[in-house]
Amino acid sequence: MTVDALVPRIVAFGFVLLGVVSWAPDQGLAESPGAGLGRQGWEAIQSGKIQDAARAFDEAIAANPQEATFYLGAGLAAHLQGQEKEAQATLQQALRLNPKLTAASLLLGELAYRAGDLEAAIKTYDDALAVEPNQAQIKSRLESWRKEAALHSGFLQNLSPHFTVLFEGPAEQRLAAAAVDALEAAYWRIGTALLAYPPTVITVVLYTDEQFRDITRSPTWAGGVFDGKIRVPMRGALNDPRQLEKVLAHEFTHALVKSLAPRGVPTWVDEGLAVVFEMGDLKWAERLARQGPSLIPLPRLHDGFLSLPAEQVPLAYAESALAVRMLIERGGIPALTALLRDLAEGQEFAQAFERRVFLSYPEFSSLWARRVRE
Ligand SMILES: [Zn+2]
Repeated sequence: MTVDALVPRIVAFGFVLLGVVSWAPDQGLAESPGAGLGRQGWEAIQSGKIQDAARAFDEAIAANPQEATFYLGAGLAAHLQGQEKEAQATLQQALRLNPKLTAASLLLGELAYRAGDLEAAIKTYDDALAVEPNQAQIKSRLESWRKEAALHSGFLQNLSPHFTVLFEGPAEQRLAAAAVDALEAAYWRIGTALLAYPPTVITVVLYTDEQFRDITRSPTWAGGVFDGKIRVPMRGALNDPRQLEKVLAHEFTHALVKSLAPRGVPTWVDEGLAVVFEMGDLKWAERLARQGPSLIPLPRLHDGFLSLPAEQVPLAYAESALAVRMLIERGGIPALTALLRDLAEGQEFAQAFERRVFLSYPEFSSLWARRVRE
């Protein structure tokens, strides 16, 4: 089982986002054209009305196409709606108008990084530091990205139609070949099951345990990470090929879910799918869910597992897997993929769930809870 929902890197990104969301420009803007619309946009962002925000920023840009902060707002709104390409283009426009708009650089660099484009991420932060040299957050992020780039530059590559596998040296050649086979198998097995395939080649990096901790800053027990790239520690994998297959299938599922629905997917759905597609049996999950003093309610498993006490994390994975299994039993894969598409469009989870599964989310939750405790 991987415990990637806990990876602090994602929290770091959350902070960037939070910083940009709560950043409401008003200095010197008060009387300029579109200023009122811009303010409306930021208020809408802060109260979670993303579509309203997108509209307000579009109108603000129409009123004053030279105001960089309107593009920052529009780019953030696009990102929050999962439109990553548009978000990047809009943030680039913001920076063309005002290269010193650090909030736009921060977000653009992170988006590039999370799209797996380390080079573009580094260039964005380099450019930002060239005009505003005293940005501590950008400096430290850039430093860790450079370290990653330096490490990867010495790595060898194994290419397949859908993956680029990076690994350190000839000693890992055999493992990398096994990884490529496992990934291509997962691609066809899981892609065919979900009737969806990732649109781009996915980079997969095989690390020593030490490199993995260093680059991902994830806890020592993490089995893998997907953050735009699939990152896997090779720990014992040579002796246990089945474990490597599981970890790769798990992380590939995250990549696929992310490409189907870049936002709005509750953690239990994402992690549950990843565990189910590892293709191991779920007896361990059934045991965990039956044994514990009580279940964690599914609605508490929507926003990552970080807020849970560490000892509850295995239960959270177990519950996620069992809930997804039941969801598939009730609605079939078509209901599940339709649900993911609804979420990608920004529909609210409980509503989309009821329409696709023909059962309200609270009914499903209590039915599920009864069943796993039997
Ligand atoms: Zn996972």
